[in-house]
Amino acid sequence: MEAAPVIHEFEAVIVGAGGAGLYAALELARDGVQTAVLTKLYPTRSHTGAAQGGICAALGNQEEDHWEWHMFDTVKGGDYLVDQDAAEILAREAIETVIELEHLGLPFNRTADGRIDQRRFGGHTRNFGEAPVRRACYAADRTGHMILQTLYQQCIKHDVRFFDEYHVVDLLVEDGVSRGVVAYRLADSSLHVFRSKAVLLATGGFGRMFRITSNAHTLTGDGVALAYRRGIPLQDMEFYQFHPTGLAGLGVLLSEAARGEGGILLNGKGERFMERYAPTLMDLAPRDVVSRAIYQEIRAGRGVDGKDYVYLDVHHLGRAVIDEKLPDITDFARIYQGVEPYTQPVGIQPTAHYAMGGIPTDVHSRVVVDERNTVLPGLYAAGECACVSVHGANRLGTNSLLDILVFGRRAGLDMARFAREADIPDLPSDPVGPVATELEALRSRREGESPAKIRRELADVMMDDVSVFRTADTLRHAQGVVDGLRERYRWVRVRDGGAHFNQDLLEAREVGYQLDVAQVTVAAALARQESRGAHYREDFPERDDASWLKHSLACRVDGAPELRYKPVTITRFTPKPRTY
Ligand SMILES: Cc1cc2nc3c(=O)[nH]c(=O)nc-3n(C[C@H](O)[C@H](O)[C@H](O)COP(=O)(O)OP(=O)(O)OC[C@H]3O[C@@H](n4cnc5c(N)ncnc54)[C@H](O)[C@@H]3O)c2cc1C
Repeated sequence: MEAAPVIHEFEAVIVGAGGAGLYAALELARDGVQTAVLTKLYPTRSHTGAAQGGICAALGNQEEDHWEWHMFDTVKGGDYLVDQDAAEILAREAIETVIELEHLGLPFNRTADGRIDQRRFGGHTRNFGEAPVRRACYAADRTGHMILQTLYQQCIKHDVRFFDEYHVVDLLVEDGVSRGVVAYRLADSSLHVFRSKAVLLATGGFGRMFRITSNAHTLTGDGVALAYRRGIPLQDMEFYQFHPTGLAGLGVLLSEAARGEGGILLNGKGERFMERYAPTLMDLAPRDVVSRAIYQEIRAGRGVDGKDYVYLDVHHLGRAVIDEKLPDITDFARIYQGVEPYTQPVGIQPTAHYAMGGIPTDVHSRVVVDERNTVLPGLYAAGECACVSVHGANRLGTNSLLDILVFGRRAGLDMARFAREADIPDLPSDPVGPVATELEALRSRREGESPAKIRRELADVMMDDVSVFRTADTLRHAQGVVDGLRERYRWVRVRDGGAHFNQDLLEAREVGYQLDVAQVTVAAALARQESRGAHYREDFPERDDASWLKHSLACRVDGAPELRYKPVTITRFTPKPRTY
């Protein structure tokens, strides 16, 4: 780390090689913009590849459908915290995006007459809420895998430069202008400065701050925390989605596609309990509604054998449907639980799944830094790390793969425009100094606690106190614990002092990102005294539009989050009580 940093220059730099980053890279490369993609994983290991169930678009291949219905479902599903200008773009551009994916080579499942097949998913309805509609396009239960492979192949074809296993450890923002990033190369611990006109953050989510989660180990909120440390506020962080059907005890996801194909939820008494909670949509109600219902059944002693899980049953679908449409997730049940879904129900419980909040952007994926939506020139964010906001207080299934592609693409297009107009920015005088000091302190400390212990304690308190149900008491408790962990984190030690493939060092750094993201989540959740979407306060059980129909913005002031608010954009649909 003492050696001088390596300096690179590109017109555009993309941090992250999931669906959002790759689609942006493809647009830039097609436009002839010199582009680098930096990724801490090999691109095809990005979490997009784990996405199972589908990507939605109102193609109407199976039954009548319209983008207005899709937009309405998105806004209602998000409990009206959605910015409706963004939701309109999402629903309209869904159609061309999916067709473009098909043209790029994605092998979707087909209807008998050769069109893209579509299936049901939670919260997607016909005619403004009447009944479920078939809107999710899919490739068996490995849709994300196919998207990632397709986009990666296209990027290779268009000569995008990849820097694999380069961890971005700092953003260069000076005088309100983005100037590039600093990356740490895993192979030899060298530091690299990427000077660039435009930077896109596409670093994905941060579910690993919870104990039971569907998220990959690498989803630690790096881009979100780095932006926050550089003075960018974080939006709507109190809204974190728990997916109803994770494998009991493990959190490994069983896609909503299982219910979309006709699977049902049963409590310990064998009752189809969703009939009581959502009479119209039942098992296909949005995720926040279903996760709360499961917890309520468990609390009432109606879990399986009185325990903390219920059943997902698909056996009545028959082997042919299971094998053709749900092959991977039924294998998960066999492998991890020793259960045979052809004949037996599978034990499930809610699992921490998706961040609705993140780095605030406008509809061109440009990062905005205040209540007035002032753009930070040259900095972009897209995908799960961003908040545009199309998901509001709760995301509908299959809307995330769509979001990453629609807004990843929009980022690429606007970055190309910006790269043509802007000059390459000057670098700060000592671009690597601050982060080099932090990394060296971590690596050279001889005494101290293990970061793994802090990470475990964080995941426990977030799971117990900041989950599907919250109160001021649980949140204050979590706040105290997180503050204590942050203090202890200042003195952690990594075991590996070496310069080659020092994963230990990077994992320790990731714990720091998780602590930042958790601190903001708890502060925003404590401040919001209402229940909306995935944020359910038992001490304030009603939605309160008069006081709380607004986005939160958490700004870092003297090292702690300070909350501000900005209005929600409402165009077509005025907020109504949400029933399903
Ligand atoms: C199990 C599972 C199933 C899902 N199923 C569906 C589904 O069926 N439909 C749907 O719509 N959504 C689904 N989702 C959600 C959706 O898959 C994700 O929200 C989406 O794929 C995120 O894409 P992304 O491009 O934002 O980030 P990711 O695909 O997570 O990629 C993040 C990228 O950032 C890079 N990165 C991170 N930090 C750094 C750093 N410090 N330096 C350099 N690089 C970095 C990583 O290397 C990676 O390339 C699912 C999610 C999970 C976990």
